[in-house]
Amino acid sequence: MFKAFSTTAIIVFFNFLITFIYFVCSTICSLSVTLTICLVKLMTEPTLTPTALSSSQTCLTSQPIKASEIDPLFKYELAKLSGSEKILHCFQCGTCTSDCPIACYSGSYRPRTLIHLAMLGLKDRVLNSDTLWLCAACFTCSDRCPQDIEVASVIRVFRNLAIEHNCIPQIFKDQINAILETGYAYKISEMRTKKRETQGLPPLPKCNTKNLQNILKTINLTKKPKPQTEQL
Ligand code: SF4
Ligand code: SF4
Repeated sequence: MFKAFSTTAIIVFFNFLITFIYFVCSTICSLSVTLTICLVKLMTEPTLTPTALSSSQTCLTSQPIKASEIDPLFKYELAKLSGSEKILHCFQCGTCTSDCPIACYSGSYRPRTLIHLAMLGLKDRVLNSDTLWLCAACFTCSDRCPQDIEVASVIRVFRNLAIEHNCIPQIFKDQINAILETGYAYKISEMRTKKRETQGLPPLPKCNTKNLQNILKTINLTKKPKPQTEQL
């Protein structure tokens, strides 16, 4: 009798132990999966000034529209430009955004929203949007638009206009300056140059920056920035 009781107690104890171990392991697993998802999201979210991106999104759509912001002729100007000729055909179906690989990973980049704002005449909001620069020019949106709008080209037109109005994110301005000074998109530090020497590597090729400066001058990228009006 006592032996049967002690056997039952041992079985119950082991059952309890196995359940406890299972519970601890599954909790650790689910925590690690959650952490991994968070890490992947952090790593894949574009890092073009994250605070600027979130504020850009907020400014783009959630701030009340002032009458003074509206340029009713903007959409007609866009319709005359190469690449955005069909913008007036947009009926806001959202296919461009739902198929956009960048919109999948970014909480703020929405090609449909940019086109909508342009149609409303909110030129400054479109041109000052940091999210504009997240487009990877993959042309998926152009292929899928039911209205045959070259959405990727529309985004290119927005970017060109943004450059004309000197609405360029600081990171790109820094890259332009680095290219003008050194011919490289990122400045190569003295330390790296010396390290190449110590490892017996040849010096990095020098770039003819004069030619680059002439090219950039022709597209007005080197002109002094115009003072920006309201920061959106
Ligand atoms: S897919 Fe074409 S019609 Fe639809 S919202 Fe985008 S641009 Fe407009
Ligand atoms: S071209 Fe730009 S907007 Fe269009 S799907 Fe690709 S990343 Fe998105």
